[in-house]
Amino acid sequence: MDMEKIGKKIKISGFAACILVLTLYISACAPKKEIQKVQKEFFALDTQIILTAYGDDRAKEALAEAQEKIYELENVFSTVKEDGETAIINKNSGGKLSEPLLYLAERAIEISRDTEGAFNPMILPVVKLWGFSDKNYRVPEDNEIKSALLLTDLSWVRLDKKSSEIYFDKKGMGIDFGGIAKGYVSSVIMDIYRKNGIESGVVNLGGNVEVLNEKPDGSSYNIGIRSPYDGMLGALSVKDKAVITSGGYERYFEKDKVRYHHIINPNTGYPAESGLISVTIVSKDGVLADALSTALFVMGKDKAVTYWKKNGGEFDIILMDGNDNIYISEGIVRDFKLEGNYRLEVIKKEAE
Ligand code: AMP
Ligand code: MG
Repeated sequence: MDMEKIGKKIKISGFAACILVLTLYISACAPKKEIQKVQKEFFALDTQIILTAYGDDRAKEALAEAQEKIYELENVFSTVKEDGETAIINKNSGGKLSEPLLYLAERAIEISRDTEGAFNPMILPVVKLWGFSDKNYRVPEDNEIKSALLLTDLSWVRLDKKSSEIYFDKKGMGIDFGGIAKGYVSSVIMDIYRKNGIESGVVNLGGNVEVLNEKPDGSSYNIGIRSPYDGMLGALSVKDKAVITSGGYERYFEKDKVRYHHIINPNTGYPAESGLISVTIVSKDGVLADALSTALFVMGKDKAVTYWKKNGGEFDIILMDGNDNIYISEGIVRDFKLEGNYRLEVIKKEAE
């Protein structure tokens, strides 16, 4: 190599080094983007909602976008708002599904099959009969329940993914996303957070919580789980997961001193009396967590534990029965702090 070429090379690498130093200097001196905590609280989806996000100046916009999205999806999933997409489909015994509805209908049907109908999105005619859709509560006659149950059979539903259409074979059938929609909404909010550069955040839909990543200081989020009585049954520390609870105490009415709650056993058409009074599902998949919280509540402890043993790679469980027993799957024991005077039993995959 001649001297001229060597000289050029030295000049070029010297120049590159200067650029590198300059870049490092500029980035070190540039004002650091402030991480701020923003919060928004409002009422939608029939519950109190709290959105929290940690991010730069886009955090506020992220929350505004999230709030708009929640209002939009509330309309899409409502079975009572006449102009809502689900309500229109139910009225017409089917029709074209928008993207979120197609996705959710597919997942709801898949989880229904998987849980042998404990989760049944076609439960609407029964839910309506009890007045849980429009809050005109009443105790139906046995024969009304029997007739309504005939309209909840999943084999009368035809879902065509290619054309995004759904059809119900019998008039009066209807789909109800009430047991799965909140989990879907919270996972959509996580996407909005991510898209807006949010580093960490929480969505709390009336106690159904999903968290994005970990707290800005690197620690886990601490999620309180409500007791069906007063106070908390415990607290769970989590990162990047949904924590979703179903309980009869969330919505019910009383008639002649009997309490009737909103989670229906699709086999009987009556509020599920499985012995469980609270079911929490912890999973990265908010949709699965929501649907399973409803399904495992219907199943009762033994079936719920068997289901978890078979499928528990994707989720963890905290079950509470009416005798103050709490059953927790082994994967989250170390992250759980019991509160209140309850007996805690750990559920393991393999018997020791
Ligand atoms: P969740 O609070 O998630 O357990 O959902 C309860 C809601 O889901 C009810 O208000 C009904 O709209 C609907 N639902 C009730 N029973 C069932 C069931 N067995 N399967 C699917 N959805 C149900
Ligand atoms: Mg649910």
